Amino acid sequence: MCGYHGSSLKQCRCSPLQIENYLGKISGPLLDRIAIHVSVRPVDIDAWKSHRASSMTGAAMREMVVRARKIQSRRFAEANGVDCNARITAGMFATYCAMEPAAEALFVRAQKSLLVSARARGHIARVARTIADLEGSERIAERHVAEAVGYRGRDSRA
Ligand SMILES: [Zn+2]
Repeated sequence: MCGYHGSSLKQCRCSPLQIENYLGKISGPLLDRIAIHVSVRPVDIDAWKSHRASSMTGAAMREMVVRARKIQSRRFAEANGVDCNARITAGMFATYCAMEPAAEALFVRAQKSLLVSARARGHIARVARTIADLEGSERIAERHVAEAVGYRGRDSRA
């Protein structure tokens, strides 16, 4: 592999077969167990330097995460064996992952159009719950589900 597949900086010189073999190194069943798949592009260092000033600081990010964890501690205070969104089991989704109607509709559409496994559905619900918590939103909104679905970029599309 040349390392430039998907890059806008340089042309990839690999054959389709090489690319397929490389991407296939992570098997479907393994990928299925990973909650978030994100493709990361090589960074243009000058663009990054000018962008950095306007983006969120590490301290602000930390504060947001601490707040989201607090929301979760409160939510699961009474729950047995669960202390964060990652541990929500299938039987608890209805209780802890309440979605707005538009979010629910998108969730169902996403399941039908691209997602096959029950595990992947669980990842989306938990990640959407977490995105909503980071925003301080009690209910999961459509945009939270949309973002969570976006993190399933490597799922097979039926
Ligand atoms: Zn290449």
